[in-house]
Amino acid sequence: MTHHNPGTLYVVATPIGNLEDLTPRAARVLAEVSRIAAEDTRHSGRLLGHLGVNKPMISLHDHNEARRVDILDAYLEAGEDIALISDAGTPLISDPGFVLVRELRARGRKVVPLPGPCALITALSGAGLPTDRFTFGGFLPAKPGARRQVLEQWLAREETLVFYESPHRIVHTLEALREQMPERTVVLARELTKTFETFLQGSADELLDLLAGDPNQARGEFVVIVAGAPKVAQGDHQAVHADELLKTLLAEGVGVKQGAAIAARMLGGRKQEWYARLQAMKGEH
Ligand code: SAM
Repeated sequence: MTHHNPGTLYVVATPIGNLEDLTPRAARVLAEVSRIAAEDTRHSGRLLGHLGVNKPMISLHDHNEARRVDILDAYLEAGEDIALISDAGTPLISDPGFVLVRELRARGRKVVPLPGPCALITALSGAGLPTDRFTFGGFLPAKPGARRQVLEQWLAREETLVFYESPHRIVHTLEALREQMPERTVVLARELTKTFETFLQGSADELLDLLAGDPNQARGEFVVIVAGAPKVAQGDHQAVHADELLKTLLAEGVGVKQGAAIAARMLGGRKQEWYARLQAMKGEH
């Protein structure tokens, strides 16, 4: 039997530290829904307690998300509105919820997102690195080999790179950046919206020195932002346009390794970066 007024799933962003960042709309929706699905019900219980909201809660995390879909769908079918929240920030952004939203949309359910805090956007909006285009990498792989591979794939990207990192790995990640992208500007956005919010900027090497000198700076939550690969000066008619040169080299059958050496000589920059760019170009053809 189909219910005539099925409920709505509200995807609700919650604070990433500062409780004042919860929007009035989020507070109202959390107070109005019948049920709240949360990544960690105990953790979210504290936020709801602060709001004076006392609702039946159901856990939804990476390990049970697929199984939760039918249960939550049945509540919606029965006309209940449900809010989905995560431990902090916007659900689905390096947090559970994607499977639920995909499945409920496939079943024709109404899904309404409520915008609000998100660490990566907060970090970008305060870092002072270009924001017109960026790549968000989520969490880098924990294993050094896989992490190195991701950074290698990113070497030629000209847009700003953003990723999440845990305090246990921040030093390792900076070491990998020092090795693979030593000349790039890196911004560590730490403890955003909280008492000890800090933005540290420098090369990976400089930041490692800073962290070694003040271990407090290695604590807490981080967003890492890395400047994109340097753009080759444009508009200067004397300068060889980088892409033109690279294309010509490939068209003339010059190997990627040799091509990278030629590009580095003619245009400056590091061989490794030209290598990655040539590899990427070669892949496109
Ligand atoms: N859904 C969240 C969002 O919208 O930002 C992200 C969840 S993810 C599991 C947690 C990661 O986000 C942390 O490891 C850290 O990299 C980043 N993060 C969350 N809160 C932060 C904060 N207050 N300051 C800096 N980074 C934060």
